[in-house]
Amino acid sequence: MTTLFISDLHLESARPDIAAQFIRFLKSEAESADALYILGDLFESWVGDDDPDEHYAVIKKAIRALVDSGTPVFFMHGNRDFMIGAEFAAETGITLLTDPHRANIEGADVLLSHGDALCTDDVEYQKFRLMTRNPQWQAMMLQKSLPERQAFAKQARAASMQHGKSINPVIADVNQSAVESFMTKHGADLLLHGHTHRPAVHELTLDQKPATRIVLGDWYEQGSVVRWDENGPVLAVLKRDRVRGQ
Ligand code: MN
Repeated sequence: MTTLFISDLHLESARPDIAAQFIRFLKSEAESADALYILGDLFESWVGDDDPDEHYAVIKKAIRALVDSGTPVFFMHGNRDFMIGAEFAAETGITLLTDPHRANIEGADVLLSHGDALCTDDVEYQKFRLMTRNPQWQAMMLQKSLPERQAFAKQARAASMQHGKSINPVIADVNQSAVESFMTKHGADLLLHGHTHRPAVHELTLDQKPATRIVLGDWYEQGSVVRWDENGPVLAVLKRDRVRGQ
């Protein structure tokens, strides 16, 4: 049996091809998997579980169908969809995980995280993260009307895009010493995360012992998955179907 890990799909109504691939993935290999872990940024933005957008309704239904078929789905917030809450969880049947989360897969311990907290060189982003992950800020936000929240999200995305263009790519990646202290603090020799859109398997040394950091890729042009069976985790590409724009 296999446990699957994905992240950074950035689903939005403007990209139906990503949603189509995701739904096919849920109906095929995810149905026969032991479990599916979604490590954040499933959605490009999320302004609250009360958003009635039809695009979201279709995706929620597909996740619900997977859970009902017997595959548990675990979800961790990303920096785009951190407002996903209890209502979404109840509708879809997913289990919300806090970041970081320790899991035991096939007898091995793994530390799971979205990964944005490790990008400590991006000081401006970390300030934004601190503000928006505050439960009081989120409660304040949820009191606003849906159009007000959508306007805020649009503005935040535009600012983030602008900021992304203005910073050095090295700054947007994880900070190596932040990774090392994070793994040491949680006693982990294996870390699996997304966020940076730089799929790779990195070998490192922690306290003179070998350690591994696996990074999931985004789903913009193709899918990215970690399949983990009795032989261990393998990072793989999910080719986009020939049927484009579906
Ligand atoms: Mn992210």
